[in-house]
This record gives sequence, structure tokens and C-alpha cells, in this order.
Amino acid sequence: MYCNHEVETMPRATMIELQTQKLQKMIKWVYEKSPFYKEKMASLGLTDQSIQTLEDLQKLPFTTKEDLVTNSPFGFLTVPLSSTIRMRMIGDYKPVTKAYTSADVGRNVEMTARALVAGGVNMADVLQICEDYTSEQALGIQYAAEILGATVVPTEMTKLELQLEMIDKLRITAIASNAQQMLQLLVAGQALNYDVAQLAISKIFSLNNDTKNSMDEHIASRFNARVFNLYSPLEIGSSAMMFECQKKCGLHIQEDYYYPEIINIINDSNILDGHMGELVLTALSTEAMPIIRYRTGQMVAIDREVCSCGRTLSRIKIP
Ligand SMILES: [Zn+2]
Repeated sequence: MYCNHEVETMPRATMIELQTQKLQKMIKWVYEKSPFYKEKMASLGLTDQSIQTLEDLQKLPFTTKEDLVTNSPFGFLTVPLSSTIRMRMIGDYKPVTKAYTSADVGRNVEMTARALVAGGVNMADVLQICEDYTSEQALGIQYAAEILGATVVPTEMTKLELQLEMIDKLRITAIASNAQQMLQLLVAGQALNYDVAQLAISKIFSLNNDTKNSMDEHIASRFNARVFNLYSPLEIGSSAMMFECQKKCGLHIQEDYYYPEIINIINDSNILDGHMGELVLTALSTEAMPIIRYRTGQMVAIDREVCSCGRTLSRIKIP
């Protein structure tokens, strides 16, 4: 089951063509509109015409979290504030500010809907969101699940005892939360003699800021549910840039919206598919604050083979 059949099963050659067109447009956009990238490119003697292919991206420097901390929002903002509909300050220590146009919010919702459908969410589900609503993830999940027709129970973080009662009474079938919260729920269940495996939950969407959730098998077996990991770097401020399908063989990358590179951390060069390196992401469609070649700090390998779920979207794999 796909949410966007055309994109999720797009032949590799067509995807590369789409990414190349989008990249050319994006580089022109940031060269003209982003103070940060305009200055960076000028200092290297580059113009928007210098970047024509996906390989040409390597001419551009990386963007780091420190760059975002120092220059966001206005150094990266490419539209007037009157064109944005949402801003967030993300992180307690050295926060990063993100701004979104309505189209940015729409893309975030679409990416999240793809991830929920891949995990099997449909109109019959009652989905509880137990996540901090100051993150972009909770709102993205809420809008996406409502569009899919699921019944949403927004709870934010609440008392664990109350949450268990809510899951039971409202017959919740799916939860979007994070691994830490789910583990706390397990502990609370044990303390209250609550058998969480008997609950109706069949799907747990784990909202991660890392590509690896080392507790997912434990959480899945204890809740007698399937765990689907969703990953987005917190600073990029989306909900589901990468997601797991039913086959759970790596996280699919939303490649029409973000172009992935894997970098050798010794010499910063691009490395071959299948080899471990740092994940670097370039926004291909973002309007308000597009980020080019963002160093995520995550060590992964990329697999571009077609997944057995039928999706052609590349997957990142973690050892
Ligand atoms: Zn798959």
C-alpha cells in the first residue's frame, strides 16, 4: 500500500532526472535569496550556473549545525516573514530557528502520510500522539493521520498511568511517540500490573532524532506490536524524512524532497553505495529555509536497490 504510488515506485532514472531538475531550481533559489548561501557561493567563485548535476553538489561546502545556530533564521530565510506561517525554536542548548511556508508544511504532512501508510495506518486506526508539540513531528503526524481518516488522540506528554488508561479505554491501535516514552510506559505498566501486550496497539511509530533505535525490538515484543522508525534531523524540522516500511530493511529516504549523500569522514569525499559514512542531506523542495549539504552526524550506508515492499526510494542502513 502506497500513499504516493508515482513517487514511491519511481524508476531510478526518472528519480535522478527529477532530483537534478529540482536541484538546479533550488541552487538558483538559494543563490538569489539566501544571504548565507549567496555569501558562501560568492566566496568560492560559484554562481547558480556552477551546479548543474547532482555530482556538482560536491563543489559546495557542507552546512553544519553550528552554521544553523549562528545564522538562523534570517541568514537562511529566503522569503519575507509575511510569507511564512510557522516558526519554531528547536533545542534547549544552542537552539536553531526554523520557519515554514504553507507549502513547506504541506510537504511535511505529505512525507508523514507516506510514512504512516507504509506502516499500515488507515481509517480504522485510533492513533495516539504522545510527543512534545513544540517539535514539528507531533503536528506533522496529527495532520497526516487526520488526512488519512484515522482518529487522532493528541495527548502530548501526560502521566503514564493516565496514558495507559487512555490507550485501553479509547481502544488505541497506533501510537506515535519516542523510544524513551514507550520504555517509561512499559515500566509504568509493570508497576501497575498492567499487561501492555493485551492492549489493542498494533503499530508504534517511533519518532527519532537518530537513525538507530536500539530499543525497537524490545518495545515491539513487549507491546506485541510492530515498531516503525521515523527519522528526521531535529534541526531540519520535518516529521518523517525517512521511514520504515513493513519489510523493515532500512529507512526509505523521501528522495524527491531530500537528496542524500554519504561522506567519508576522513577526507569529506563522497563514498560508494553500501559503504559506511556520514549522511549529508540537501533540501530539494523547501521554500522558507532550504539547507544544502547538511551534515547530520549519522553514520549509515545507502542501498539503492528496489525494496521487497516495491518502493524504489533508497534506504539507509545502520549496522
Ligand atoms: Zn520497503
